[in-house]
Amino acid sequence: MKAKKTVAILGAGITGLSAAKKLISMGFDVEVFEKEAIVGGLARSFSDPDGFIYDNGPRFIFSTLAEKLGISDICSSVQYYEYLYIGEKKYQFPLGFIKNPLYCISVGLSMLTRKFKSKPSHLQDFLYVYYGKKLSNDILIPLIEKWSGQPCDKVSIDFAFRLLPTSITYILYSLVKKLRRGKTEDYYRKSRYIVYPEGGNRRIFEALLSTPGLSVHVDQEPLQITTDNDRVTQIQFKDSSISPDYVISTIPIPSLHQIIDKKSVLLEYQTLSYRAISILFLKIHKNKVLEGLWDWFPESHLPFYRISEYKNADSRLAPKGKTLISVEFACSADSELAAFDATQLYQSIEEELKKRYQLSRSDIFEMKVERSFHAYPVLKKDTEQIHRTISHSTKLSNLFLAGRTGAFQYKMTEGCYQSAMDCAELIYAMEHKKDLNIDQGETATSSQNFSDSFGRPNAIPE
Ligand SMILES: Cc1cc2nc3c(=O)[nH]c(=O)nc-3n(C[C@H](O)[C@H](O)[C@H](O)COP(=O)(O)OP(=O)(O)OC[C@H]3O[C@@H](n4cnc5c(N)ncnc54)[C@H](O)[C@@H]3O)c2cc1C
Repeated sequence: MKAKKTVAILGAGITGLSAAKKLISMGFDVEVFEKEAIVGGLARSFSDPDGFIYDNGPRFIFSTLAEKLGISDICSSVQYYEYLYIGEKKYQFPLGFIKNPLYCISVGLSMLTRKFKSKPSHLQDFLYVYYGKKLSNDILIPLIEKWSGQPCDKVSIDFAFRLLPTSITYILYSLVKKLRRGKTEDYYRKSRYIVYPEGGNRRIFEALLSTPGLSVHVDQEPLQITTDNDRVTQIQFKDSSISPDYVISTIPIPSLHQIIDKKSVLLEYQTLSYRAISILFLKIHKNKVLEGLWDWFPESHLPFYRISEYKNADSRLAPKGKTLISVEFACSADSELAAFDATQLYQSIEEELKKRYQLSRSDIFEMKVERSFHAYPVLKKDTEQIHRTISHSTKLSNLFLAGRTGAFQYKMTEGCYQSAMDCAELIYAMEHKKDLNIDQGETATSSQNFSDSFGRPNAIPE
């Protein structure tokens, strides 16, 4: 009998584990190697004996992803409202901006005049043309600068695909959402709803890990990748090595570059960088702290950009009479902020929490910090031509890149799942010498995805 071909997957986030499941169903032998002690990557989630369930990353998934993962029956739709704080004022997003005539004028004028403006070349120009100066300067630019750590005129226009449109249809959509108490179809795709698995995102990983034949090695960091001509021939770990037929990397590109012997393979990607986040989780002796799921804080003097209260989306996520909030800080991986422990992070925002939510230290009975050093791919204008060319394929014929972290693409979980499927199909096609109609140069940000003359995409490519 012909021996099964082997695939080594680096990283056990949603991309790595979804690719593993698909490849096993296609008849490959698959082994997944994860550096950390737990699987899940950015979407790792936690539950504890006190009855709290909370996530490092995603606060929801799309119903279409739940279907693909076979977990629709344990998912329910969630309410999600978001608010923005600017100075002392609080606005419900997006209809609350009506309260401020300057924001209405900013958006209204931009809607009327954008047709006559020339195509912007960087994100700041795009924001001015698309949302007007007032809304851009007060909200969008400071928020994007917190996420990216870059001045907005140095950020690629490709980031615009994450931003919401200003159009009559979007305003109508927001009205319908309000009438439906926060639950509604996704604006970009009909029949797609925002849902959340009962018991948290760990249910996603339980489902993936139950794949028969799947072998996942945690605490296993690849130390060296050896190549011969145009192929990976061996991956070395601390106490073992493997010689797989194919390799999928979902780990940060700089980490891959560090361990590969043939540095030229990924050389052009070396200028790419990621933004780190630290998330402070606070368990609180109160029933409720926020009004909605998320509060956004664009102002640059505040070190954090978002506070979430999970229970407000699904009351089962915290025990009765108690709640949990998370405070997200974006920073560079080598900054002081990234090294702060929970107490230091809390002290940096104690006054703000008191002022906004009347929350004091005695209300908090436990705090914990989680760090992700590769949370957001930073889409810089300078490196636009490089990040747009990243595809599943590499210069090595049996090495592939996939997912958000691995392929440096600003994807949500469903986009990562799709990337995993495409990558698996590509390997299958190579193995069986079939032509395949997958866009190998698939980049969520490539200019052909844009639909109007300002770089505004028609749909978020998930
Ligand atoms: C704050 C935040 C909020 C988000 N909210 C949402 C949301 O509401 N909805 C949504 O759909 N998506 C959301 N996302 C996006 C979602 O979390 C990601 O798209 C998805 O989890 C990325 O999965 P991945 O497998 O591609 O990458 P990762 O999850 O980064 O997986 C890569 C894996 O590789 C491992 N690894 C790293 N280095 C090595 C190494 N050297 N060797 C071996 N393994 C290694 C990592 O530990 C990790 O497990 C959010 C992301 C963030 C950061």
